[in-house]
Amino acid sequence: MNKCLRPHHGMCFQFYEGKGYSADFTDHMGRIIREMETEPSQIIKLQVGTDIVCENCPNNEAGDCTTAEKVKKYDEEVLKACGLVEGDEISFAEFTELVREKIIDAGIRSGICGDCSWDYICREKERILRAVRRIFKMESILDEALRRMDDAEEAPQEFLDYQSEIKKLEEYYSGQEWKDDFVLDEEGLLPKDLKRGVLSEDGIYDALERNKELMERIRGTRMVKHVILWTLKDELSAEEKMTIKQGIKEGLEGLKGKVPGIVDIKVNINGLESSNADLMLDSTFESVEALKGYSVHPEHVAVADSKVRPYTKIRSCLDFEV
Ligand code: SF4
Repeated sequence: MNKCLRPHHGMCFQFYEGKGYSADFTDHMGRIIREMETEPSQIIKLQVGTDIVCENCPNNEAGDCTTAEKVKKYDEEVLKACGLVEGDEISFAEFTELVREKIIDAGIRSGICGDCSWDYICREKERILRAVRRIFKMESILDEALRRMDDAEEAPQEFLDYQSEIKKLEEYYSGQEWKDDFVLDEEGLLPKDLKRGVLSEDGIYDALERNKELMERIRGTRMVKHVILWTLKDELSAEEKMTIKQGIKEGLEGLKGKVPGIVDIKVNINGLESSNADLMLDSTFESVEALKGYSVHPEHVAVADSKVRPYTKIRSCLDFEV
């Protein structure tokens, strides 16, 4: 017969580190996890009720959990997030992967079990996991960027095509995430074997400066930032304004890949209350000529005429070379 597992225990397994309700419980839980991990293809049956993990738990009173109401809610939310129902039979590996993708990576774990007494462990581990993934991603961008910079003279187009990725590196380095990751590293909380050249301040700064110089040399011109602040018309309700802002964001950000010369294009629609504008376009173009081409490009004109101009009353623009 297949082993029964409470759906929310799929979350507990992700960050378990040997702490629990009693020594008997932790010994037992550790053994269950090892067994599952040794044979990940084994089929488990999802059950909203006490399971194999509950066997040695002091909260298990003759088959009934003393916190039944709370954990039942966790179970139901895990099933819903993973697109499963009670009684489903699924391999342990597949279930673990679903929990990782739909709950942990989706960032909704604390919304499900944030009131659990062990939440502080999972919260800390998630913070490190997110940092590790981010550093891994930025590290691969940096490696590829350096490779393309080395080959930029022979393969300039390849180098230019990679600018939107290098922009992500630039945003990472100038934002809060790089500072947070740097602190985690200083505190010794990152895995020892994690490649982290991206956290070397000189390394990333030098790479970005080299990129800028190469861009100027290869293009014979400098990139241009095109920033616009709009204020929407007064007669629009708050709800209408939100729909319009979403439409402008989708319309303008969707121009990347359609209009030549756009390096990056973002529309920020979530200003703080202290703002006196409703939204901001933050875009980067390969050159002044690319910006001129964008302003008259039919795809851009269509978005401007249908989604922007009819609803805006003030437009302030700043273009500058970078
Ligand atoms: S009996 Fe309750 S508290 Fe104990 S492991 Fe099972 S679900 Fe968790």
